[in-house]
Amino acid sequence: MLINISELISTPLKTETFKVPVDMEVYELNGDQFPFLEKSELVLTVSNMGNRKVHLEGHLECTLGIPCNRCLKEVAVPFHIDMDEEVDLSPDRQDDMADDSYVEESCINTDALINHEILILFPMKTLCRDNCKGICFKCGKDLNKGECGCDRASLDPRMAAIQDIFKNFKEV
Ligand SMILES: [Zn+2]
Ligand SMILES: [Zn+2]
Repeated sequence: MLINISELISTPLKTETFKVPVDMEVYELNGDQFPFLEKSELVLTVSNMGNRKVHLEGHLECTLGIPCNRCLKEVAVPFHIDMDEEVDLSPDRQDDMADDSYVEESCINTDALINHEILILFPMKTLCRDNCKGICFKCGKDLNKGECGCDRASLDPRMAAIQDIFKNFKEV
């Protein structure tokens, strides 16, 4: 959603609070999509700080479904987002502030703002539990539910070579 703040910018000391529903169904990162399992509305307070600078203060609670890095089972990962950003809307602002892509002209793109905040908090690694055993790379069974009986060691060609050496050794 776009919040037009052109009136706010032209009114000194004005502060306005917006309650914005989150329309997005998924969060996208590097081509992967993570569904929003839960989301509150975004409460965003925009304050005019003068000189075409605004202060954004916002809060959003959401939960994303992120696959476990080992077994791919979806894990509900909560995000507590507290925004505290200062945005420079002056036309001569440094264009190297690529982070400000959630600002378009005199509008705040709330979806882009939320994406920006989630990216900061996105976990490097997600596990369904600390000792997740992952899935068998041969048959795909979830090894947390028990052994599948596959001989996983033999798929490694280096291991196979060593086993051959031992076999030959025995035959001599
Ligand atoms: Zn797992
Ligand atoms: Zn298996």
